[in-house]
Amino acid sequence: MSTNNQAGLVIVPEAVCQQVIDRPSAFTAVESVFAAMARGDAYNFPVIREAIGYADALYGFKSGFDRAGMALGVKSGGYWPGNADQGLTNHQSTIFLFDPDTGKLTALVGGNYLTAVRTAASSAVSIAHLARQDAKVLGIIGAGHQASFQLRAAVEQRQFEKIVAWNKSPERLASLAAVAADLGLPFESLEREEVAAQSDVIITITSAKEALLLNDWIRPGTHIACMGTDTRGKQEVDSALFSTATVYTDEVAQSVSIGEAQHAVVEGLVAHKDITPLGDVINGDHGGRNFAEEITLFDGTGVGLQDLAVASTAVELAVEQGLATSIAL
Ligand code: NAD
Repeated sequence: MSTNNQAGLVIVPEAVCQQVIDRPSAFTAVESVFAAMARGDAYNFPVIREAIGYADALYGFKSGFDRAGMALGVKSGGYWPGNADQGLTNHQSTIFLFDPDTGKLTALVGGNYLTAVRTAASSAVSIAHLARQDAKVLGIIGAGHQASFQLRAAVEQRQFEKIVAWNKSPERLASLAAVAADLGLPFESLEREEVAAQSDVIITITSAKEALLLNDWIRPGTHIACMGTDTRGKQEVDSALFSTATVYTDEVAQSVSIGEAQHAVVEGLVAHKDITPLGDVINGDHGGRNFAEEITLFDGTGVGLQDLAVASTAVELAVEQGLATSIAL
């Protein structure tokens, strides 16, 4: 949505984003923008992500234009591995929104919390549209910063009765166990193969560079949301799974280049035409899950338009609730 009716530059800090954006509003923003992308109403521009040769940092931009939501802008930021030692989040980002009619900068929005909620909303939208209705066990592979957000958003989509999880360093699973306890759900820490054996829905959210889940381990009827692979070289699941599963994504161009599908494409196991934008399912142009035993895989690569969508909603709500600061530019 356009912010061009606001005087000056609207600033929405991190703390205000946390106050105004809840999971349902992030879900709606992400679902709408996936639908707009599939209709051809919204475009992501090519992603830039570079090692800057300083502080071991990765820095880049994700940008796009949503003609339906009138959101034009860019998320700028990246990954600074040394930040944790200074008490800061390693991932740092800021979202800039521009008036699509004039190009004027209209809003500056904290992007750290919004990145987590929009990423969790992405897998949640995939679960809402692709998982079996009778899914009972949710598996999580990974227990980093994003994992708790993923868990909270996912459990709102089906009547899950149990959470099972694995992480490379098992002690980090304590944070997920605490979220499960808060949600009143039993939690079990398991080996990867056992997570696959028990789960109806699996979310992978790691920085792994090799397959953590093998094709043979995945039960018929499982929905897998691969959320960690957003860069060339990362990998979370067996590329053979792309031959077994019906594959969906947020954006095909990203899926095949920087997403989970990158390896299967190189190995000739999947082609661009075999990957369906989730927006097609949301728009009713694709039927989604065909049968109970089908394995569905969502390759959630993370697109700039998701950031612009949640940032636009944050601006609108912050202004409405008198929580935004406005300055002349
Ligand atoms: P984090 O640094 O807080 O946690 C990293 C997680 O990956 C931990 O669970 C860690 O144990 C695990 N891990 C690291 N190396 C591993 C390996 N070799 N094998 C198995 N597990 C390994 O990161 P985070 O903020 O939780 O993000 C997790 C991943 O999600 C990152 O790769 C990040 O780039 C990606 N991400 C994707 C999106 C998207 O939209 N798709 C958005 C944000 C983050």
